[in-house]
Amino acid sequence: MKHKIQYWIGRIQAHLMRRFAPKTLHVTTTRPVISFTFDDVPDSTLFYGATILEKYGLRGTFYIAGRLAGTLETTRQLINENGIAELAERGHEIGCHTYSHPNIARLNGTQLQSEIDQNRSFLSRILGKRWSATGSQLNFAYPYNAVSYFAYRRMAKNYRSCRAGENRINRGATCLQMLFGMEIGRPDEDVVQLKAEIDAVKAQPGWLIFFTHDISETPTPYGCTPAAFEKLVQYAVQSGCDLLTVNEALDHYMLAEAA
Ligand SMILES: [Zn+2]
Repeated sequence: MKHKIQYWIGRIQAHLMRRFAPKTLHVTTTRPVISFTFDDVPDSTLFYGATILEKYGLRGTFYIAGRLAGTLETTRQLINENGIAELAERGHEIGCHTYSHPNIARLNGTQLQSEIDQNRSFLSRILGKRWSATGSQLNFAYPYNAVSYFAYRRMAKNYRSCRAGENRINRGATCLQMLFGMEIGRPDEDVVQLKAEIDAVKAQPGWLIFFTHDISETPTPYGCTPAAFEKLVQYAVQSGCDLLTVNEALDHYMLAEAA
């Protein structure tokens, strides 16, 4: 019952955010765009996720929660500081995912700002001043895809965009604080089914943002195997869609808006 109430509160807040978006992006429907993103981030995404993307000349967006870095959980090892630096060096985009991975809908303004600031300091320390200087270019993903209507103005001030879930494709007027994401998760048969979403974005262009967690031979329910992930990436490449990081896609749409 409690989960049901929380689910509906989340849905109502998401609706309000879209309705009264402080920053709206117009996702043009001329070219289909696909992005691959990773949350938390498990170290297997460096070994498999990043490597598979690079094999096809692609880069991903990795949303890091600093306090998780280097920790060992029951089912996964989180990427450490060297791994985060390596991802950035290999040309991947590093985004934010709060510092300690709370449900932000349950935080007050001071707590949320502290999460934002701590993660920015953490990443600045690892990636250097150049990264922190690009503050307004930073992108964010909500832990648990939990959005908050009461937080969105703060999010708009701190981030260029924020990604949630909802398993939908972004098209037309889109709230920048609530970009839709499409989950890649076990089992592999489900991952293969996601080819249909690539067909859908190709047929009716928009921005399809995939998100996942671990890419491992023994994945959690929130990740998938390297083989399934590669099949999906391969299919995306063959589709002829534009394959961009989140920040590159935003540049693409904002440039189109300015033209
Ligand atoms: Zn997360």
